[in-house]
Amino acid sequence: MQNDTKSPLILVIDDDPYTRLKLRQMVQQEGYRIEAVNDGEQGLEAYERLQPDLVLVDAMMPVMDGFTFCQQLQTLPGSERTPVLMITGLDDQASVDQAFEVGAVDFVTKPIHWPILRQRMQRVLREAQLSQDLVEANHNLQRANQEFYRLAIVDDLTQVANRRRFNEYLQQEWQRMSREQSPLSLILGDVDSFKAYNDAYGHPAGDRCLQSVAKAFRLSATRPADLVARYGGEEFVVILPNTVAAGAMCVAKQIQDTLSAFKLPHAQSLVSDCVTISLGVASLISATDTTPEALILAADKALYQAKTDGRNRVVIACSGGLCCMNGSSDTGFPHDNTSDRFRRLWS
Ligand code: GH3
Ligand code: MG
Ligand code: MG
Repeated sequence: MQNDTKSPLILVIDDDPYTRLKLRQMVQQEGYRIEAVNDGEQGLEAYERLQPDLVLVDAMMPVMDGFTFCQQLQTLPGSERTPVLMITGLDDQASVDQAFEVGAVDFVTKPIHWPILRQRMQRVLREAQLSQDLVEANHNLQRANQEFYRLAIVDDLTQVANRRRFNEYLQQEWQRMSREQSPLSLILGDVDSFKAYNDAYGHPAGDRCLQSVAKAFRLSATRPADLVARYGGEEFVVILPNTVAAGAMCVAKQIQDTLSAFKLPHAQSLVSDCVTISLGVASLISATDTTPEALILAADKALYQAKTDGRNRVVIACSGGLCCMNGSSDTGFPHDNTSDRFRRLWS
């Protein structure tokens, strides 16, 4: 394509030395650069080597004529961006039609009328530049749109999904799980004694801590359909489609283990000398008498229970009430029929 720092490069392909000479003079007079070769084969080679901004090709030549050149040019990468002007001996209908059929954008007839060629070259170069500008503008627009969409759904501090994306995805997956009658699980987590952490280490350190917590969530919820989001200040949430309660408990435990492996010191914590998190889990197969809000509420209740039970633990909402899992023990862990239990629990 046209290089900003250099004038346009014109590739001339013509077997007639006099025409080549005249074209060279004229093209250079216009301030363009020129490379001239004798036939289509040389033209293809020169095209690949030089990537010119415009090709001026004679229709009738030995070895490879202008029509065959145009056809073969179309198989070369980038050629769709390079305009070709065909120089035809005749302006009869058949030659002109054939020139356009093989991809030429315009033609001039021999003997060449220089003012006409000059105007056509200028126009064709201008159009090629405009269409290239348009392609670039489209690319930039697409990139800007993607970035705009990303900013609208990503939490700035932690780079996980934000609350808006969480709401949107929960609705979407709720409907999908409902159609498939598949289980949907939710984990709600809240960092323990985080106010004390900010007070002890300062707000910027608190921000970095939240980034680590988000990382622990991301490393633990690894299926493509899983979504980690920042639910609020130091609260995070995971949506786990096609996941039964047992699977969600495993993920919650993994979050705890990953965070504890980070060993983030927290001298003021009520429950540990490192940063810990409490997690509430809820899981169900959606039914007409349940809503996504009920799922959130159940996870929230479980989280509340985890806090009141002493923090740094996972509690799951189940039919018999709330079951706790603390450290390596998994007492009261419900294994199946969670959806039935939920429906009964919530009805
Ligand atoms: P608990 O164990 O009961 O959860 O106690 P807690 O101190 O974690 O809970 P509390 O709700 O009292 O405090 C939450 C703190 O989280 C208070 C708030 O300043 C802090 N916080 C919320 N968002 C941010 C943030 O973006 N950055 C930082 N550094 N702190 C935040
Ligand atoms: Mg909180
Ligand atoms: Mg907290």
